[in-house]
Amino acid sequence: MLRPSPVVVVAALLVACKPSRSDSPEPHPVATATAAEVASSMDRAADPCQDFYRYACGGWIDATPLPADQPRFGRFHALRERNNLAVRGILERAAAREGDKLGQFWDSCTDEAGIEARGLATIEPLLARIDATGATGSTGSTQNTSPLFALLGELHLRRVGVLFDLDVQPDYKQPGTNLAFFSQGGLGLPDREFYRGAEARLTSLRAAYLAHVARMLELSGMPGDAAAKAAADIVAFEARLAEAALPREALREPETRYHKLDRAGLDAHAALPWASYFEAIGRPDTLAVSLAPATYFPALAEILASTPPVTVRNYLRWHVLHAAADHLPSAFVQANFEFYGKALRGQAELAPRWKRCVEHADAAMGESIGREFVADAFPARSRDVALAMIKEIEAAFAVGLPSLTWMDPATRTAAEGKMHAIANKIGYPSKWRDYGALPIVDDHLANVAAAAQFEMARQVSEIGRPVDDERWHMTPSTVNAYYNPSGNEMVFPAGILQPPFFHHEWPMAMNFGGIGMVMGHELTHGFDDSGRKFDGDGMLREWWAPEVGARFEERAQCVDDLYSGYEVQPGVHLSGKLTLGENIADLGGIKESHRAYLQWAEANGVDPHAEAMDGLTHEQLFFVAFGQIWCTKSTPENDQVMAMTDTHSHPRYRVNGPLANLGEFSTAFACEAGEPMRPTDTCEVW
Ligand SMILES: [Zn+2]
Repeated sequence: MLRPSPVVVVAALLVACKPSRSDSPEPHPVATATAAEVASSMDRAADPCQDFYRYACGGWIDATPLPADQPRFGRFHALRERNNLAVRGILERAAAREGDKLGQFWDSCTDEAGIEARGLATIEPLLARIDATGATGSTGSTQNTSPLFALLGELHLRRVGVLFDLDVQPDYKQPGTNLAFFSQGGLGLPDREFYRGAEARLTSLRAAYLAHVARMLELSGMPGDAAAKAAADIVAFEARLAEAALPREALREPETRYHKLDRAGLDAHAALPWASYFEAIGRPDTLAVSLAPATYFPALAEILASTPPVTVRNYLRWHVLHAAADHLPSAFVQANFEFYGKALRGQAELAPRWKRCVEHADAAMGESIGREFVADAFPARSRDVALAMIKEIEAAFAVGLPSLTWMDPATRTAAEGKMHAIANKIGYPSKWRDYGALPIVDDHLANVAAAAQFEMARQVSEIGRPVDDERWHMTPSTVNAYYNPSGNEMVFPAGILQPPFFHHEWPMAMNFGGIGMVMGHELTHGFDDSGRKFDGDGMLREWWAPEVGARFEERAQCVDDLYSGYEVQPGVHLSGKLTLGENIADLGGIKESHRAYLQWAEANGVDPHAEAMDGLTHEQLFFVAFGQIWCTKSTPENDQVMAMTDTHSHPRYRVNGPLANLGEFSTAFACEAGEPMRPTDTCEVW
């Protein structure tokens, strides 16, 4: 999963967990309801050695319609739906309290009449300032772009993604200190390839995108003909930005994402009015930044120099409308959905307002919600159980190191040292964010903008300052987890420490197949193609013997080739390079959690080959529980977009890929050599 290591994400309906022990000597009987759900989700007629995903998930897939308001839905998403309902309850309770900010946010978001009546009033001043900006002159001189860059700084503080992105993260070479990272960005389509590809689907999406940009401009008051002309110029401008950008695959290399320059170096590298930008974000004292990929910014300077100012102004207007779209009157919301939901993702219906408001509230004040979510759904003992499981997974990783013949003793020792240095964060942060200075008023869009500014102002204030190790990059109710290479830390929000990943009353085979695999996955991210380049202190440096690094690369290439051969749908292949880190993490994660389960079973007198339920042994149940996490339905449109943009493989291959490369799986299901789930050639990294 997930973020910085890209990086991967239940009250009323959530069963509150009671105290439990992960070291209970008794194998838990599979609770009747759980057993029934496991069994009904399977397709026992399918052959587990032919297609294990079908075997584990066939029943669920056949019985579960894709909800009209989602482009992809799995058991993973079903948990998110339950968490959303819990958060809704929290927000409604907050709304019943006088003067509660969360409640005020909720009230303003659900006040559709107020939003309709306000129209564009909240962003009119900003749009007027864009129109009044000199933007670029035809020569693109520094003097002419200064007002543009001042405005750009302001837009970035509002999280409007124009021209490039700003992110504040630990310095890769000095992980105790924050650095501003400027990176390629500013596109309205999901990836540069959408502007370039010649396939019919991409061509028609580009036409739909052009029409959408025109529609939004028209809704904002631009006459139809002018809007059509402006949209054509905007899309052509974005296509030039896309041309200057590198493919996603290339950005997997940390060295490509990091290019540190001091102020003089910055001015020399890309002649843009950086001083105006730093002034606008309130940090004229910024001494250094990372500008990466290095080739993007000189190209951006050239593009700006050769673009008419009116096109840049229209481009900014479009992106302000785009960023605000879901918070504006229904005509904007609907137009936004027609393109981004329906055309791009194949989603049939717009999600109901309450669900969107839950997400907006979580983005705005997630830790305020998280505090209550944790109180409702995450008792202290769950944290202990999860931590005990992580220790078992770490032990399993360490036990496996000596058998990795491609490593030398020195690198193996260093890897074990890095593993022991990983900080584990479980459930919720030790220090809660204080939203006291965030102004919440009776205007939904103003609240969203204020929350974005509140967050970005904090980030920007930390440029050049020490990293706060207690900060979380996901909110507690999130169904996800992440490994952060700069902090050398794994983070598991309370939102994922729930069924179908985890439950204290479940057989441990299911917990290890579920959250145990997620833990192994995150741990392995510390050693994937990107994570391995950071040491135990989070510093980007070469700590591997060169020949060991070369042998790692050979093994990684095996995984790359394997996944590149997987088809999501006829003619649509996964990108083995884009998904490499996640696939290495999936392969290592299931192996470590399986080993950890066997160690746990042995220590607790459980026979993994004894029947657990319905003819399945405990060990087989481990694999079924793992497979069932990924039972998923999705639209073909969405699968295509994900194949181009997602660092994670399609769920079918997140199950079948790792299992086909794990000998213990084929033994557990007595698969014969040469069957699809037991190929003769396999890949192994960790
Ligand atoms: Zn991951």
